[in-house]
Amino acid sequence: MSILEVKDLRVSFHTYAGKVQAVRGVSFSVDKGKTLAIVGESGCGKSVTVQTIMKLTPTPPAFIEEGSILYEGKDIVGYTEKEMQKLRGKEFSMIFQDPMTSLNPTMRVGRQINENILKHMSLSKKEATERTMEMMRLVGIANPEINMLRYPHTYSGGMRQRIMIAMGMSANPKILFADEPTTALDVTTQSQILDLINDLKKKFQMAVVLITHNLGVVARMADHVAVMYAGKVVETGTVREVFYEPRHPYTWGLLKSMPDAADTDGSRELTAIPGTPPDLFAPPEGCAFAARCPYAMKACLKAQPEETCLSETHKVSCHLLDPRAPKVEPYHAKRHKLD
Ligand code: SF4
Repeated sequence: MSILEVKDLRVSFHTYAGKVQAVRGVSFSVDKGKTLAIVGESGCGKSVTVQTIMKLTPTPPAFIEEGSILYEGKDIVGYTEKEMQKLRGKEFSMIFQDPMTSLNPTMRVGRQINENILKHMSLSKKEATERTMEMMRLVGIANPEINMLRYPHTYSGGMRQRIMIAMGMSANPKILFADEPTTALDVTTQSQILDLINDLKKKFQMAVVLITHNLGVVARMADHVAVMYAGKVVETGTVREVFYEPRHPYTWGLLKSMPDAADTDGSRELTAIPGTPPDLFAPPEGCAFAARCPYAMKACLKAQPEETCLSETHKVSCHLLDPRAPKVEPYHAKRHKLD
């Protein structure tokens, strides 16, 4: 059963230059104990979507124009800030790309974890301190009695991200939102942090919504994938469907731009997607990817493609799936290893 269901979410920012339609009808769901990865280029609306679910986008300038966000079946779109404060940190938790700017540099790390526990759990100060130490041990920080007294700047990037995860997990959230959690880290630390998130997900049966532009991270972490482009989900499915049977030209472009471990002689060229995303002040009438798509047809410029369901989980929005469209051989990324 879905713990979180987002239906036709539309979020715009009202600015002096006009209205930016950052999220233009996004729908997806996340099941308990599963990971949904939201992928796409910078500016495609993935972070805004998640920040809107957490109600972290300032209103104004951001406005939810339409749509619903169902958490355990209840629509939280109309929740007040007070109601959201009860969800944030307790039911939902978020870890960001750069832990240095997310942690308070003037507070010892232990106190920061402790604050969240005291706010969301009915524990005494002594019990909260014990839980802080337990959380630090859980994320692999030894000697928490000493290390909880340190300030964030005395930790390395990887250790600071562990502190963020300890803080995020401290009140046993049901959903963890991770916005590019490893982008600022070196590959070894990145791998450790991803393993840690996976272990915690299994241990606590937590749902994870992972935002990333790194398909390697998606292959390793996700159960389901939502590919976003210009504020819309253009393809969604299980990780196997999206990696092995992708049907949207934008997904093909992303996969073709990914290095291939099987390409040991370097004969396969990495292909970049030409052009830039459309201006979301005035999104195109037709498919937003048309200007960059090698398969664009007249119909693509005139009308937005409807969603086609290829299986219960695999959904694609592209005119190529119309039976009247010319036949195009789908890109098969068989060599990307998922296991
Ligand atoms: Fe390309 Fe047309 Fe499909 Fe858009 S709808 S991705 S332009 S083929």
